[in-house]
Amino acid sequence: MSDDLTEFLRKRLDEDAELAGRCDGDGCGQWTAHGHTVDFCQVDLSGLHPTIAEHVALHDPARVLREVAAKRRILTRHVLSPAVGDPELPWDNRDDCNWDGEAWPCADLLDLALPYSDHPDFQEQWLPHQIRTR
Ligand SMILES: [Zn+2]
Repeated sequence: MSDDLTEFLRKRLDEDAELAGRCDGDGCGQWTAHGHTVDFCQVDLSGLHPTIAEHVALHDPARVLREVAAKRRILTRHVLSPAVGDPELPWDNRDDCNWDGEAWPCADLLDLALPYSDHPDFQEQWLPHQIRTR
Protein backbone atom coordinates (compact mmCIF):
# COMPACT_ATOMS: atom_id res chain seq x y z
CA MET A 1 0.00 0.00 0.00
CA SER A 2 1.30 3.45 -0.81
CA ASP A 3 1.82 6.08 1.83
CA ASP A 4 -0.15 8.87 0.17
CA LEU A 5 -1.74 10.06 3.42
CA THR A 6 1.61 10.76 5.08
CA GLU A 7 2.76 12.69 2.03
CA PHE A 8 -0.54 14.59 1.93
CA LEU A 9 -0.15 15.52 5.61
CA ARG A 10 3.49 16.59 5.17
CA LYS A 11 2.47 18.94 2.35
CA ARG A 12 -0.38 20.47 4.36
CA LEU A 13 1.86 20.99 7.40
CA ASP A 14 4.54 22.56 5.20
CA GLU A 15 1.90 24.92 3.77
CA ASP A 16 0.58 25.80 7.23
CA ALA A 17 4.10 26.51 8.51
CA GLU A 18 5.05 28.51 5.44
CA LEU A 19 1.96 30.71 5.70
CA ALA A 20 2.41 31.20 9.43
CA GLY A 21 6.02 32.17 8.80
CA ARG A 22 4.95 34.78 6.27
CA CYS A 23 2.51 36.27 8.83
CA ASP A 24 5.25 36.76 11.38
CA GLY A 25 7.00 39.58 9.57
CA ASP A 26 8.23 41.43 12.64
CA GLY A 27 8.95 38.31 14.62
CA CYS A 28 6.45 38.87 17.42
CA GLY A 29 4.06 36.12 16.29
CA GLN A 30 1.74 36.81 19.21
CA TRP A 31 -1.57 38.25 18.12
CA THR A 32 -3.88 39.70 20.78
CA ALA A 33 -7.54 40.70 20.86
CA HIS A 34 -8.84 43.82 22.51
CA GLY A 35 -12.61 43.99 22.26
CA HIS A 36 -13.47 44.45 18.59
CA THR A 37 -9.81 44.72 17.53
CA VAL A 38 -7.07 42.22 16.75
CA ASP A 39 -3.49 43.42 17.15
CA PHE A 40 -1.46 41.61 14.49
CA CYS A 41 1.79 43.17 15.78
CA GLN A 42 2.28 45.03 12.49
CA VAL A 43 -1.24 46.37 12.13
CA ASP A 44 -4.57 46.37 13.97
CA LEU A 45 -7.84 45.22 12.48
CA SER A 46 -10.97 46.56 14.14
CA GLY A 47 -14.68 46.19 13.63
CA LEU A 48 -14.80 42.49 14.45
CA HIS A 49 -17.21 40.84 16.83
CA PRO A 50 -15.19 40.36 20.06
CA THR A 51 -15.58 36.58 19.89
CA ILE A 52 -14.26 36.52 16.34
CA ALA A 53 -11.40 38.82 17.34
CA GLU A 54 -10.48 36.40 20.13
CA HIS A 55 -10.69 33.45 17.76
CA VAL A 56 -8.42 35.11 15.21
CA ALA A 57 -5.90 36.15 17.85
CA LEU A 58 -5.87 32.65 19.28
CA HIS A 59 -4.59 31.29 15.95
CA ASP A 60 -1.54 33.51 15.72
CA PRO A 61 1.55 32.35 13.80
CA ALA A 62 3.38 31.23 16.94
CA ARG A 63 0.54 28.90 17.89
CA VAL A 64 0.22 27.55 14.36
CA LEU A 65 3.95 26.82 14.29
CA ARG A 66 3.71 24.99 17.63
CA GLU A 67 0.79 22.94 16.31
CA VAL A 68 2.67 22.10 13.12
CA ALA A 69 5.72 21.01 15.14
CA ALA A 70 3.56 18.77 17.35
CA LYS A 71 1.78 17.25 14.35
CA ARG A 72 5.11 16.59 12.63
CA ARG A 73 6.27 14.68 15.71
CA ILE A 74 3.07 12.60 15.59
CA LEU A 75 3.66 11.97 11.90
CA THR A 76 7.22 10.83 12.63
CA ARG A 77 5.94 8.26 15.14
CA HIS A 78 3.11 6.88 13.00
CA VAL A 79 4.87 5.35 10.01
CA LEU A 80 3.76 2.62 7.65
CA SER A 81 4.98 -0.87 8.44
CA PRO A 82 4.26 -2.71 5.20
CA ALA A 83 3.25 -6.37 5.36
CA VAL A 84 5.86 -7.22 2.73
CA GLY A 85 9.10 -7.79 4.58
CA ASP A 86 7.42 -7.41 7.98
CA PRO A 87 9.27 -9.57 10.53
CA GLU A 88 5.90 -10.19 12.26
CA LEU A 89 4.72 -12.26 9.29
CA PRO A 90 2.89 -14.61 9.06
CA TRP A 91 1.00 -13.62 12.22
CA ASP A 92 0.08 -10.13 11.09
CA ASN A 93 -0.18 -10.16 7.31
CA ARG A 94 -1.36 -6.59 6.75
CA ASP A 95 0.04 -3.09 6.33
CA ASP A 96 -0.05 -1.45 9.71
CA CYS A 97 1.23 1.48 11.76
CA ASN A 98 4.62 0.92 13.30
CA TRP A 99 3.60 2.97 16.40
CA ASP A 100 0.24 1.49 17.37
CA GLY A 101 -0.14 -1.63 15.22
CA GLU A 102 -3.49 -0.48 13.82
CA ALA A 103 -4.36 -1.21 10.21
CA TRP A 104 -2.87 1.46 7.92
CA PRO A 105 -3.66 4.31 7.94
CA CYS A 106 -4.22 4.35 11.70
CA ALA A 107 -6.89 6.41 13.46
CA ASP A 108 -4.39 9.02 14.65
CA LEU A 109 -3.32 9.83 11.09
CA LEU A 110 -6.94 9.94 9.92
CA ASP A 111 -7.67 12.40 12.72
CA LEU A 112 -4.67 14.52 11.71
CA ALA A 113 -6.00 14.62 8.14
CA LEU A 114 -9.59 15.50 9.01
CA PRO A 115 -9.04 19.29 9.28
CA TYR A 116 -7.88 19.18 5.64
CA SER A 117 -10.93 17.29 4.34
CA ASP A 118 -11.89 20.28 2.20
CA HIS A 119 -8.54 20.22 0.35
CA PRO A 120 -8.86 19.08 -3.30
CA ASP A 121 -6.25 16.33 -2.77
CA PHE A 122 -8.05 14.86 0.25
CA GLN A 123 -9.33 11.36 -0.41
CA GLU A 124 -12.73 10.18 0.86
CA GLN A 125 -11.11 6.98 2.18
CA TRP A 126 -9.21 9.11 4.72
CA LEU A 127 -12.36 10.12 6.56
CA PRO A 128 -12.37 8.41 9.96
CA HIS A 129 -14.68 5.38 9.93
CA GLN A 130 -17.16 6.88 12.41
CA ILE A 131 -17.64 9.92 10.15
CA ARG A 132 -17.84 7.88 6.92
CA THR A 133 -20.70 5.75 8.22
CA ARG A 134 -22.94 8.63 9.33
ZN1 LIG B 1 -0.50 5.05 14.15
